[in-house]
Parts: sequence; structure tokens; C-alpha cells
Amino acid sequence: MKSTKAIIEKTKKFGANNYDPTEVVFSEAEGVWVTDPEGNKYIDMLSAYSAVSHGHKHPRIIEAAKKQMEKVTLTSRAFHNDVLGDFYELLAELTDKNMILPMNTGAEAVETAIKCARKWGMEVKGVEDGNQEIIACNGNFHGRTTAIVSMSSEEAYKKGYGPLNPGFKLIDYGSIDQLEKAITPNTVAFIMEPIQGEGGIIVPPEGFMKKAAAICKENQVLLIADEVQTGFARTGKMFASMWEEVSPDMYVLGKALGGGVFPVSAVAADKSILGVFTPGSHGSTFGGNPLGCAIAVEAMKVMKEDNYVEMAQEKGTYFMSELRKLKNPHIVEVRGKGLLIGLAFDHPAAPYCDALKEEGVLAHETHETVIRFAPPIVITKEEIDWAMERIKKVINQI
Ligand code: PLP
Repeated sequence: MKSTKAIIEKTKKFGANNYDPTEVVFSEAEGVWVTDPEGNKYIDMLSAYSAVSHGHKHPRIIEAAKKQMEKVTLTSRAFHNDVLGDFYELLAELTDKNMILPMNTGAEAVETAIKCARKWGMEVKGVEDGNQEIIACNGNFHGRTTAIVSMSSEEAYKKGYGPLNPGFKLIDYGSIDQLEKAITPNTVAFIMEPIQGEGGIIVPPEGFMKKAAAICKENQVLLIADEVQTGFARTGKMFASMWEEVSPDMYVLGKALGGGVFPVSAVAADKSILGVFTPGSHGSTFGGNPLGCAIAVEAMKVMKEDNYVEMAQEKGTYFMSELRKLKNPHIVEVRGKGLLIGLAFDHPAAPYCDALKEEGVLAHETHETVIRFAPPIVITKEEIDWAMERIKKVINQI
């Protein structure tokens, strides 16, 4: 067995330098626990940014994957497969939308939503092609493609990648006033995360999304909810938009849809919107592949049958109340919903994350000063207690 050191050396030798991972190697994982090559055990409090909500290697999802692998794994969309319909049906039911478009990564689903909104804008709203405008929020994170980084407010995501896409406007996250002012006759969509994940677990003022939905409706503007990170029970509702009783015009979904096993993403909307796509106007070789569909179908069934919504709400409330008992004068706030929690400091959070790793707790900072805790939704109270003991030791002592 290769050592952690040798593995990291090789990874660094040949790998592009676009990430700076914590020096831990996952060589095995199960549930909330991961093991490195030396046999050290860690609790995973990040769960691949919510993609491992079911925990590592959920037995039902692994079984579904194995079964499908024995049958057929890839067809491309040039042919039909016998799992895609089931995937559509389940996701349509969960989102209460009647049309689904499958992709693979979150960024591809966001791209799909952008293209759909622009095409809808031209064909339905009557905006001249090339003039369509989309409003996004400062602090957003919607992925890494060139179109998507064009609507980012983060310099590091954009610098050097010009020419960027025109047609995006930014407003402050949570500002209804700015949203109203930004809308023009050419506005086709407003895209937002119900809680900004990468932006530092930012919860907008209560009522923002509901008011935004009403304004969008009044102005014939599509509301796109990017629920790639907040979707599928993570925040204690099946979709975080539901906290505000909002049914967005388009859901952008990914991460946990793949059950922690496979990249599966999708856009869910009604036919009056997603129906603008026609054969040849958009696509993906891998999107809707039978292996991904079988995995996603089982992932959604598990979420429903095991009531992940209630699990995330219950465990999230408990975990957050324990975090609020921490005694460190540099803590500014404990915020979030369900099991998407940010522990915000008034100084860099990275040293805490490094010290937590030494204690066997894997968490990552976001936006320098915030520790994001987003463990698998299957985490038990005992496992939270195990982690809290170590979190207390580290946070109260540094
Ligand atoms: N949208 C949101 C809200 C995200 O948090 C992310 C990833 O973190 C993405 C989109 C992009 O997803 P992916 O990394 O799968 O392309």
C-alpha cells in the first residue's frame, strides 16, 4: 500500500494546480467515515460539498449501480434506454415540474438553465436574440464554465478568462430594491441560490425569495433556483426554495442527485419553459445515461423512503445548537439551515480546519473566515457528539 506522502507527491507531480487540497488521502470510505492509507479514521463533515448526502457507499445505491453495470451503462441519447423514463418520473414528482433535462455536472445544468432562459426569452417573451439579460447575485457560485464565471462577482474566478459573456447583471444578494431596478424589458431570468454555499453559507433575509418570485412573475422573468448544493433535503426541506414556499420556474440540480457515486445533474421546469429545446438545440453524450439514471433513481428513493428531510432538520437543529455553545471570542455567527451550516469567524478559519484534521474531523473553510459543516445527512446524533467533542477541543482552545 502506498503511503499518503507518496500518493500526494505523485498527484502533485502530474496534476494541474487548480486545487490545494487538505493533505488527507481517502483510500476507503463508508457512511460518514473515511480511512487513509495508514488506517487513520476521519469523520467527513464536508461530504463533497453536499454530494455525499447519503454517506459514502450507501448500500442500496451501490447495489443499484452494480445491477445496472451488469445490464447496460451507456447508450448516448442517439438511442433510448430503459431507466431514463423512471428517472424523469421520479424527479418530476419531487420537483412538481413536468419536464426534466438530464446533464452530468452542476455547471452543465446551470449552463442548460441559462440557454433555456435565453431561448425562452427570445421565443416566448419576444426579446431580440443577443439582447437577453440575466440577473445574478453578488457572492454567487454557479460553477466554472466561461459563461458561468461571466456572472461571478469573484475576481479570482474570472481573471484571465476573457472575453467574458455579456448579458449578466449583478445585484446584492437579498436586495429586492436592486432586483426591481435591474429588471428591463430584456430581462429573461433571475438566478439565485436559496442559500449561498460557496459564498460562505449566506442565508438571505427572510422573505427575499418569495418577494423575488413575485417580482419575477410580474415582469415575465424566470426565477431560476440553483439548488445544486441546497437541494435534496440538505437544508431540511426537499428543496431550500420550499422554506419560502416558492416553486421556482426552473430548478437546477446536481450533487446529491448522484448519490455520492456518479455525476448526475438536471434542470426541472414546466413544458412551457423547457419545451423550447428541440432536437439538436442542446445535448450531452453522457447526460441521461442508464448507469447515472439507475443510481439517481435509487438515490431519490432512499431520500424519500428514509425521510432525509426530517433527518436533516432534526440533526441540523441539534448540531447548530451544539455549535452555538462554543466559546471562542472570534466566532461571529453560526448560521445556515438543516445540515448546511457555517461557523463564521472574524479571522481566518484555515488554522482551525488544519487542527480539526489532526483530531480526525474533516471540514473545510469557505470564503477564508467560515468553516462549512455539511456532513452526510445520515450522520447520527452519536457521530455529531463524537465530532463536537473534537470541535470543542480545537475551537475553544485556539
Ligand atoms: N451551483 C452551485 C450552487 C454549486 O454549489 C456548485 C458547486 O459547488 C455548482 C453549481 C457547480 O457544480 P459542479 O461542480 O458539479 O459543476
